[in-house]
Amino acid sequence: MAMERTLILLKPDAFQRALIGEIISRFERKGLKIVGMKMLHMAPAVSKEHYGHLTSKPFYPGLEKFITSGPLLAFVLEGQEAVEVVRNVVGVTNSRKATAGTIRGDFSMSTGRNTIHASDSLDTAKKEIARFFKKEELFEYKLELWDYIYAEDEKA
Ligand code: UDP
Ligand code: MG
Repeated sequence: MAMERTLILLKPDAFQRALIGEIISRFERKGLKIVGMKMLHMAPAVSKEHYGHLTSKPFYPGLEKFITSGPLLAFVLEGQEAVEVVRNVVGVTNSRKATAGTIRGDFSMSTGRNTIHASDSLDTAKKEIARFFKKEELFEYKLELWDYIYAEDEKA
């Protein structure tokens, strides 16, 4: 068990479908701490870096076109094992296969329009947070509810 930070991007379809508030609310209620948040526009060069593992795929041109087509909401969440917890809250890449109760499972019907990005490992999370946030854009603060979200031996 370790305190981790992970990066989330809400994609242009989340804005068009008015899902931004609902999705933030789900993470808040889960007990994750918001340590940074901003809207941004992803440039094509940043897309090629962010989706570097996919640039040779046939769907990449469409992915880049879509992810650069409108606003994104970027935020960083903190919690025990946050990377895995957030991926489980998000659901699998193909939203049609995503479990009901997950964000993709509840709100999306697509792989290419799957509403949300979340870092897939701690190593990726560190790189992705640094890609979108300066140090001074991340906040250190005490969450008063921490005592109710975690037991004594889970807080470190
Ligand atoms: N994607 C796509 N078609 C595919 C696979 C992926 O359009 O066949 C898009 C999809 O939006 C996905 C993103 O590329 O969220 C990144 O793919 P990855 O495999 O990293 O999935 P994720 O980590 O987002 O679940
Ligand atoms: Mg991924």
